[in-house]
Amino acid sequence: MARRCRRRRRGAEGTPGRADAVVWLLPMGDDAGWSLRMSLVLYNTLTRRKEPFAPAAPSKVRMYNCGPTVYSQAHIGNFRSFLMADTLRRWLEVSGYEVEQVMNLTDVGHLREEDEQDAGVDRMEVAARREKLDPWEIADKYIALFFRDLDALGIQRAHHYPRATEYIAEQIAMAEALVANGHAYVVDGEVSFSVESFPTYGQLSGNTPDELLAGARIDVNEDKRDPRDFALWKRDAKHIMQWDSPWGRGFPGWHLECSAMARSLLGDTLDIHTGGEDNIFPHHECEIAQSQSTTGQPFVKHWMHARFLQVDGGKMSKTLGNLYTVDELEAKGHPPVAVRYLLTRVHYRQVMNFTFDGLEQAAAAVRRLRLFASELDDLADGAAPGTPPRWVTEAGERFDAGMNDDLNASAALEGVFHLVNESHRLGPRGADAAAARVALDRFDRVLGVLAHEDGSVDDEIEQLIVERAAARDNKDWATADRIRDQLAEMGVELLDGKDGVKWRRTGVGS
Ligand code: AMP
Ligand code: ZN
Repeated sequence: MARRCRRRRRGAEGTPGRADAVVWLLPMGDDAGWSLRMSLVLYNTLTRRKEPFAPAAPSKVRMYNCGPTVYSQAHIGNFRSFLMADTLRRWLEVSGYEVEQVMNLTDVGHLREEDEQDAGVDRMEVAARREKLDPWEIADKYIALFFRDLDALGIQRAHHYPRATEYIAEQIAMAEALVANGHAYVVDGEVSFSVESFPTYGQLSGNTPDELLAGARIDVNEDKRDPRDFALWKRDAKHIMQWDSPWGRGFPGWHLECSAMARSLLGDTLDIHTGGEDNIFPHHECEIAQSQSTTGQPFVKHWMHARFLQVDGGKMSKTLGNLYTVDELEAKGHPPVAVRYLLTRVHYRQVMNFTFDGLEQAAAAVRRLRLFASELDDLADGAAPGTPPRWVTEAGERFDAGMNDDLNASAALEGVFHLVNESHRLGPRGADAAAARVALDRFDRVLGVLAHEDGSVDDEIEQLIVERAAARDNKDWATADRIRDQLAEMGVELLDGKDGVKWRRTGVGS
């Protein structure tokens, strides 16, 4: 079927009856998602093994994700962690869970130890001085950029984005409770958590006492009883952001915000808490100590941490010039959806190395999947989905098994490509093609690349056709031929005729 250059709408709503048909692709039973939920295993950093996932409430998951520190623009490494949380939420929802998701925005008190000269420095304040803005303006600026990038990557919005500065009263209350029950002490207007009072400190990170000591060096403070103790409330006259407290003016320690906000929004025990691997110690170790010493309840059932994204085999850093943001990559011609696919397709517990080659391959894979989706639409030709043939259910089973095995997205993608390859081999029509399209839509509820709002493949094809026409008008035959070749690679054939250019799909491999 040849087409004139035209816009065309595609998407989940395109084929009649598709939503109902999703059920056929799930395991049997009254509650189609039940057996999916029963077979989900997730790796738990706390116990260092994969465990069956079981939330406290039968069908609701309470999840907390450590979010960005908003003193600069989040980079694609940060987004690896946030995408892990997004993929997890999407999979839980596809499996029939209701998820309540909280991601914090750290806008105060983030003292880091990345390099010695920065030890103990509040990044928010450094940025404020550098950019000649106040810390609140810095936070607003980078929060806006964070949401822009989040949307560009097609990450679903969490239900709550609490800011640390909006929860000062809750943090003070938690510090007061810890002082009152003997887990914290006050010296000279500063409140410190007493690590000795919490014997399982170190369990999450598995750090030895020496390592715990080394990790505590940022909080060097003469007044601490034990060098491992960490700050709940700090006093520093030079600090710009200050609040009144029972101990005088000061500001909260970084770890306290997550304990206080998680408790306020999700209760004493969370089902899942995520972050990047650098959060394990000291941040999450300290969160556990504070929260459990306050409530007497287990704080988190499943701890999940994304391995770091590396660039060219090493650390991403501003000084090495290899720290990329979503919009920088977009300006270089790499669409955010390709970044999304690239970061999603590697299992979150594997070290991942970012390369431009990999990014281009990801973009090509997304293009192929989009073309495949519209091929299936053409083949279905408006038919309602039939009972899925074996190759479609097989693809679904592989996808589900991959996702249920600790969100192994690369294994799940094998299911997706099984669908593509078998479809190309068998050339389904009508109801079978429509059933395959239903399966593909379901996979995309997790992958988020087909329904991504950055223009359809057809838009992209038509844009290239317009560019080719312009090149031909300018007698730039080399460019015109290059674009024709590019379209051929995308499985698009051009038919130059009297009344303009028509195009048709010739089919693509995976
Ligand atoms: P930050 O803004 O530094 O607090 O980081 C926000 C989140 O991104 C935290 O959960 C970090 O653990 C995570 N993160 C930072 N750098 C990377 C990286 N290179 N790869 C994966 N996650 C990261
Ligand atoms: Zn946190």
